[in-house]
Amino acid sequence: MKHSKYDVVVVGGGHAGCEAALASARMGAQTALITLDSTKIGVMSCNPAIGGLGKGHLVREIDALDGVMGRVADVAGIQFRLLNRKKGPAVQGPRAQSDRKLYLNGMQHEVKHAENLDVICGEVSDLRLENNRISGVVLSDQVAVEAKSVILTTGTFLNGLVHIGPEKIRAGRMGENPSVALADRLYDLKLPMGRLKTGTPPRLDGKTIRWDVLEAQAGDEVPTMFSFYNKSPQARQVVCGITHTNSQTHDIIRENLEKSAMYGGHIDGVGPRYCPSIEDKIVRFSDKDSHQVFLEPEGLNDTTVYPNGISTSLPIDVQDQYVRSIFGLENAKILQPGYAIEYDYVDPRALSQSLELKEIPGLYLAGQINGTTGYEEAAAQGLVAGLNAASASRGSDRILFSRTTSYIGVMIDDLITRGVTEPYRMFTSRAEFRLSLRADNADQRLTEFGRNVGCVSDKRWALYSSKAESLSSAKQVLSQIVVTSRQLAAGGAKLNPDGPKKTGNQALALSDVEVSDIVKYAPRLSDFDNDVLLQVKRDALYAHYIERQAKDIGLLKSEEGQKIPADLQYALIPGLSNELAGKLQFTRPETIAHASKVEGMTPAALLLLLSAIKKASMRGSA
Ligand code: FAD
Repeated sequence: MKHSKYDVVVVGGGHAGCEAALASARMGAQTALITLDSTKIGVMSCNPAIGGLGKGHLVREIDALDGVMGRVADVAGIQFRLLNRKKGPAVQGPRAQSDRKLYLNGMQHEVKHAENLDVICGEVSDLRLENNRISGVVLSDQVAVEAKSVILTTGTFLNGLVHIGPEKIRAGRMGENPSVALADRLYDLKLPMGRLKTGTPPRLDGKTIRWDVLEAQAGDEVPTMFSFYNKSPQARQVVCGITHTNSQTHDIIRENLEKSAMYGGHIDGVGPRYCPSIEDKIVRFSDKDSHQVFLEPEGLNDTTVYPNGISTSLPIDVQDQYVRSIFGLENAKILQPGYAIEYDYVDPRALSQSLELKEIPGLYLAGQINGTTGYEEAAAQGLVAGLNAASASRGSDRILFSRTTSYIGVMIDDLITRGVTEPYRMFTSRAEFRLSLRADNADQRLTEFGRNVGCVSDKRWALYSSKAESLSSAKQVLSQIVVTSRQLAAGGAKLNPDGPKKTGNQALALSDVEVSDIVKYAPRLSDFDNDVLLQVKRDALYAHYIERQAKDIGLLKSEEGQKIPADLQYALIPGLSNELAGKLQFTRPETIAHASKVEGMTPAALLLLLSAIKKASMRGSA
């Protein structure tokens, strides 16, 4: 240990911990990352993949703020796919399957070579408080490390209990000790704690899979990278296999349900509804006689295969039976059994927007400990906690994210206002302003903000500034050219040829007009990079939504003082959720500003409220 006192101590070297430690160090804070086993920094506990719908947006936002997850995922990516490619850009999610070892090596390289960051191997067993403010941590060998702020990112380790059928093993994840003393300390501090669970499938030996009979799935021909720095993958790209469960698989699982830890009554914690185990799928979707299974290679030099879609807590012999009932897996050998894990979490409603515990200044929580699931959700919270802990250590303001400008803001707002009833994962549907919160424009939304708060390097800033300049010049060129509706219709656009003329920007706002349709009328456009032109197109496509959103946000600001009639019937407001209507009915806020503080309130709901007040007053004055 180089220092006995740090500005920021991060406990845990998982996805939240790495991003927290690196963000804090980037901000210039003397940071220590303390973790149980430094060779496990950056381990992917479950699936070897980063991104996906909503999750890919988070990774892009982390990258826009100069975080590391996107860059490491690009280096480790062995198959890139843009999910929802056929839908609009707002709901497309970049995803990459990773080589586990490349990912771990990439993350360890970032951590080891970061300035202002020391790695300490050890178990944090106690927290030190002075006048109810955090002052440091104590390791299990009684060594104390002082810190102005501490960030806990202990994942699934707090009182972790692994289940395989009736077998129970105390572990933070398979083969690693749980964190018991620290969990006890959190209970002592009277934090609101609960129990959640998650599961993982058995890992298969790829040499025993009949790849030749299976459907193959290749990555995208033009891969979409996570990092705004990168244009193409570095690692060799691979194909995955696709197979399906069948009625025999389902019979085996159904006959053994009582042996499953989930169904045999061995697990108290609540599991993720959106990442169900195979037992869950068979019970909940009993009308389906088949489920898709993606066979994802875990690495280029590793024959282990991750069968995505069949996570389980059944006993090993049953796992063996049902796996072998699946087409192409008749001879498959299980290398590591699937299992479920139960662990403690802290109710995130105990946190403020900076992820600091309201009752214990200086103590921050990020990642699975807050009731979320997923690497990306963990990393995004780590980033926020790291930035805030570092900022607080030098007496600067909190760095807060709004749900109108980022998925990070959406997630934190959801967590701290609504809490969780099951492991929380990100979806595009959680963001009411998703048309403007796109994965493609994460840098346009956040890099300048990151630069202003101090977490964006000169290199990143130069890259961003040059792109911003090109975008602005291309839009300028487009605003100066005029095309007729006839010209656009001749190019295939579905519009009245006798309609009005349009500027290049207005023309690109039409979904069936591409940049290539305009270039012939503005040859200067061909001077721009294709990436810049594609971005101009995406921006144009959504420009009017963004304008409307800006107006809505402006309206909410200007109407903060608007009084709410005492007799307003919240239950009758169309579109308002029953949950929110109930809370508003109970709280009876006096103004829009008060209503915005009600737990679970969103900008979209405030707009509904505002419109209901206006309608009520019109009725009153009529
Ligand atoms: P982790 O990655 O768990 O990292 C925790 C870190 O804290 C570790 O480095 C550990 O060594 C360290 N640590 C713990 N206690 C101490 C201590 N006292 N002192 C020092 N260091 C400590 N996600 C999905 O999205 N979908 C899934 O289907 C899914 N299934 C999963 C199945 C299993 C069995 C497991 C274990 C995880 C699964 N996950 C899944 C979750 C995913 O792994 C986590 O969301 C993600 O890793 C959380 O990141 P984290 O940084 O919060 O914690």
